[in-house]
Amino acid sequence: MKVGSPELEITRICDELETWGLTPEKIVGKHKVVIGLVGDTAVLDPLQLQEVSPWIENVLRVEKPFKRASLEYRHGDPSEVVVPTPNGDVIFGQNHPVVVVAGPCSVENEAMIVATAKRVRDAGAKFLRGGAYKPRTSPYSFQGHGESALELLAAAREASGLGIITEVMDTADVEKISAVADVVQVGARNMQNFALLKKVGAQDKPVLLKRGMSATIDEWLMAAEYVLAAGNPNVILCERGIRTFDRKYTRNVLDLGTVPVLRGLTHLPIMLDPSHGTGKVDYVPDMAKAAIAVGADSLMIEVHPNPAKALSDGAQSLHPDRFDEVMQELSVIGNAVGRWSETPVAIA
Ligand code: PEP
Ligand code: MN
Repeated sequence: MKVGSPELEITRICDELETWGLTPEKIVGKHKVVIGLVGDTAVLDPLQLQEVSPWIENVLRVEKPFKRASLEYRHGDPSEVVVPTPNGDVIFGQNHPVVVVAGPCSVENEAMIVATAKRVRDAGAKFLRGGAYKPRTSPYSFQGHGESALELLAAAREASGLGIITEVMDTADVEKISAVADVVQVGARNMQNFALLKKVGAQDKPVLLKRGMSATIDEWLMAAEYVLAAGNPNVILCERGIRTFDRKYTRNVLDLGTVPVLRGLTHLPIMLDPSHGTGKVDYVPDMAKAAIAVGADSLMIEVHPNPAKALSDGAQSLHPDRFDEVMQELSVIGNAVGRWSETPVAIA
């Protein structure tokens, strides 16, 4: 729609297009309103659509298989995912400071999760991460404490004021997890669990969608499309490393090139996870710096108060003292690209 289009006219157009059997979706961007049309549009001529109103500036057909996730769907306007937390709204998006998400791989007990939350908050993180339900390769490995860990995450939220990000693995758990989490994570192994994607798409909390370890970028965006199509517009993509031929030195290969590629394909915010991306604590700081330099909107970093004793992913987890230093190092890159917030939230 042209800048300054009257609200009444936008409503009238949506109403008219509904009578054509289409589902109009009003998208309010920074500068203009875009009306997304989903339905049998193949038979429509863009010129015919243009005639519906003189306020229509441009009609664009999205040829890609992912429609709502595509950059064209918002006519190039990057989306923002705004997440209310006790410490205030946190915004994931291209025109905002890099949002750092930190915490242990798994929630182990109340003392460790509350202490870690306060440490990462004081260092400048805006979200606490921690798994209650863990996707483990071996059925004999620690599977997470489940429901009781959700209560511990709620306690850590209360004690630190940080937002909570935690993974959901099963459609049956979506409700109880989204009652506690501020952002619901779908892990790499579930990126194409379509039943789960539909279910998280039908609830209100934003969804963090990690890239499957062998997923192409198109498959990943189609997975995001499932969530968007189910009605949830708040999706954050997370690159967490992919599998290649050489895994002798790193657990995965963090695909930094995915950031500029995605910028040309999608409006969705992008997070990078150098912890799972490398699997080794020594490589995390440098790859975190690279992630900010390449333009990531957010970082996920595993932090554990005693990595040697961690029940999962200790080898890639930073001690809180090291995390403090790393945040200082990251601030140099963050400031250089104009995307660092210098205002850590202080709460008693
Ligand atoms: C995690 O973030 O704890 C996790 C299991 O990550 P991924 O799904 O990327 O392996
Ligand atoms: Mn982990």
